[in-house]
Amino acid sequence: MSNGNTRLPLYSPVLIVGAGPTGLTLAVELSRRNIDFLLVDRRPEPLPFDRATVIHSRSLEIFESMGVIDAFLERGHLMRGFNIFAYGQIVAQTDFNGLECRHPYDLNLSENETEEILTARLVALGGAVTRGWELSSLEQSESQVIAQLRSTDGTEQSVAADWLVGTDGIHSRVREACGIDVDGHRYLRRWGVIDGQIQDWQHAPDRAAIQIEAPSLNPIPLPRGRWRIYFRDDDDIDNAALLEQINAGLEILSPGSQLHEPDEPMLYHTYRQLSAHYQSGRVLLAGDAAHACSPIEGHGMNMGIHDSFNLGWKLALVIEGTADAKLLASYEQERRPAAAAVGASGDTAEELRSIPDNPAAVERVKRALCAMLTTSRGQLQAAQAESELEFHYRDSPLVSGYHAAGDEAKQHWFGPLPGDCTPDAGPLMKSGTAEAIQLSQLICNEGHSLLWMATDQTEVPAFDEFHQILQACGVFWIISTACPPEFLPESSPQECWLHDIAGKVHARFGVIDPSLFLIRPDGHIALRCEPPELTRVTSYFETLLH
Ligand SMILES: Cc1cc2nc3c(=O)[nH]c(=O)nc-3n(C[C@H](O)[C@H](O)[C@H](O)COP(=O)(O)OP(=O)(O)OC[C@H]3O[C@@H](n4cnc5c(N)ncnc54)[C@H](O)[C@@H]3O)c2cc1C
Repeated sequence: MSNGNTRLPLYSPVLIVGAGPTGLTLAVELSRRNIDFLLVDRRPEPLPFDRATVIHSRSLEIFESMGVIDAFLERGHLMRGFNIFAYGQIVAQTDFNGLECRHPYDLNLSENETEEILTARLVALGGAVTRGWELSSLEQSESQVIAQLRSTDGTEQSVAADWLVGTDGIHSRVREACGIDVDGHRYLRRWGVIDGQIQDWQHAPDRAAIQIEAPSLNPIPLPRGRWRIYFRDDDDIDNAALLEQINAGLEILSPGSQLHEPDEPMLYHTYRQLSAHYQSGRVLLAGDAAHACSPIEGHGMNMGIHDSFNLGWKLALVIEGTADAKLLASYEQERRPAAAAVGASGDTAEELRSIPDNPAAVERVKRALCAMLTTSRGQLQAAQAESELEFHYRDSPLVSGYHAAGDEAKQHWFGPLPGDCTPDAGPLMKSGTAEAIQLSQLICNEGHSLLWMATDQTEVPAFDEFHQILQACGVFWIISTACPPEFLPESSPQECWLHDIAGKVHARFGVIDPSLFLIRPDGHIALRCEPPELTRVTSYFETLLH
């Protein structure tokens, strides 16, 4: 990591402004694809304290692709669900175990540790964060952006870039400099956060607690036996009174429990915001710079990570000259609706939790939550919403579906649709070996992954044809419910043939007859085609790349 006062390069293909989780994810995604960039942050050091804690299932899948999942699983604390309390009793529960994905849980870790892991990955890939440089202004023409930066010692320098990405947080200077409007509001009540140990906690250590009645508390389990308690701060009370209030709340949730060795409490104003656009010419916005939501559902940081995972591969294709810059328009088309939905859901959750301190109001909220969570369907819906696996790009111009029997036949497809996140399934046996892998391991690529879903031994084209169509843009796999034929053509390496030994991948993908799935580098389905036709893949790449 380089710091302050060193000279910056005069030019970089991409200038990323802000090294929070969003900027770091984008930098890793570009590094994985050997794209040169400059990542600057105005702070000489990363923030040492927490904001975000909860990392959802979809982000964990993304971390798997980025090659950092082991570090996260090693350092984070697995959380399996929520207990919802009213007056000391658990009245409803959510459980993530029913999620059909590789990581059916939340992982709790302080945001500063998330940043540490992402920074370590960036450095391992040969990248760096240049700290102590603040963007003060920018200008752009049709062909480049010129950014003015000021270092902590007052040195001024300009950097030219082909593209600039503002990942500079909620009060984004980049957004302001481009004159991009932002719509939203500030939540009236501040959020507070305090970490510590809860002595004599009587509930499972892998479940968070949500207390409905005032003073409302959310204790969330952290690694190393600590807890993070989120609370609402109305009055300017001193720390001693605050601790008393928190202990009174804990006493209701778990009689006899107390907060020990607490850190300093932190208080936050929070906002719901949505930028009118995510792109202005050669400047793009991502993360809190583009959108913000109430922290009540723990989506803000996760959404920023997803933004960068969506943008990274597209920007790489544009910079290396493989795709036209028009491709970048799909970034806003795909990501802005997701942020709008999360913002609205945060408002609803804030409203639900802003209950007056009286038993009738608590009773009403309790009934609403119980009604939502009483059936297994409701439980699963809540878990899916939490996991963020349901966000899809079905309306994106970049995804398509084809069925030889016509569009109506597509209405009867089971399994994931074009634009959906690719589900995980397995086991798949590599031919000639006893090695079993999961589908999610096949799609952790920098490029596209083509899955040819076969139901017998004979219906697969010569492998040269796959290579010709994919060229440098991806890899392919034959996933068959049958073993490979004894003699494959010379160009056909056995290891591309995966035996869906129990038929679980076919079942999860809703494949009844042979089909083809093209998976994007961000794990979303680009193309579903039945029967499989390689010419459809050619057409997809023609649209994507030219
Ligand atoms: C109390 C609280 C709890 C939360 N809990 C969760 C949770 O559980 N899960 C979740 O997903 N989200 C949560 N969030 C939201 C989450 O913290 C944010 O969404 C996340 O930090 C956004 O990351 P970012 O990288 O987009 O922006 P930031 O983390 O704000 O990073 C922006 C970076 O840009 C730098 N910068 C700013 N201006 C400039 C400039 N002009 N030049 C150079 N550098 C600049 C800053 O120094 C900073 O490092 C919570 C937020 C709060 C307040």
